[in-house]
Amino acid sequence: MKKCPVCNGPGEEDRQVGKYCLLKCRDCSFVYANVTDEEIEEVNFNFGDQVKCHYREVQSSIDVMWFDRISTSLTRGKGGLKVLDIGCGNGVLLRQFQKRGCVCFGSDPSPWASEYAQKYGYKLLGRIEQANIDPNFFDIITSTSTLEHVARPIEHLKHIITAVKEGGIIYLTVPNYGSLPIRLRLVKGRLVDPPGHCNYFTTKTLRNLFFQKGIKENISQVRVRSYGIPEIHAVYRLFSKRISISAKSSQENMPKRTFLKKGLINIYYWSGAPFGLGDKLEALIIKK
Ligand SMILES: [Zn+2]
Repeated sequence: MKKCPVCNGPGEEDRQVGKYCLLKCRDCSFVYANVTDEEIEEVNFNFGDQVKCHYREVQSSIDVMWFDRISTSLTRGKGGLKVLDIGCGNGVLLRQFQKRGCVCFGSDPSPWASEYAQKYGYKLLGRIEQANIDPNFFDIITSTSTLEHVARPIEHLKHIITAVKEGGIIYLTVPNYGSLPIRLRLVKGRLVDPPGHCNYFTTKTLRNLFFQKGIKENISQVRVRSYGIPEIHAVYRLFSKRISISAKSSQENMPKRTFLKKGLINIYYWSGAPFGLGDKLEALIIKK
């Protein structure tokens, strides 16, 4: 049985998903798929045309508004910041940072990622473990919906911390294994999807990741929070529809549109906060 990729503790069966078994660490409660690094590599870095479609269509209007909000709050009006987005995909988050005058870099091993990097004019790097980035180079590093795919999360995180400046920001998001629909076993598929998703974080186990040896010594602040409407698909789609309607319908009425958008995105964000039951988890880390 595979040992815990966070603390190297022993695992025991948590649940069976199709032919894959999810294990729970007896020491730190982290849930992970009982699959080898090779299987994880194979499924996550085997790029077919399906991936290309995914690159085109993956983001909803909620994501775009969400990324707009993240980039505003992380840059705080400062221009010229050096930003790296890990797992940048079609660059939708980087484009928000570009709007705010940042110098943007993406990291994504897919062949489709380079098409988007050329189209939107940001620099594409390889995987962070192999990219030879100068230490203390970036002001901000983001990673949205990527860490759940990484076979060695501790090693990955150490590379991120090294690449960010002292006092710089790391912003991570992952699906929440402690979300309401997952606790009630209402969803599988996109959210509980081994071996592609090999790491299953909850508020507690994501926080614990930052307190591991070699990581905690290098960070001065960590905030972990669950956010996002719990993903019961019909609710999510209805909400997403409302956002795109509100974004399109009132072109001539900008203040109203901004007010409505802000209201909706705040509902989206805060409805996932109570009891750690939201759809996603976010971590904001400041490097020492
Ligand atoms: Zn563990």
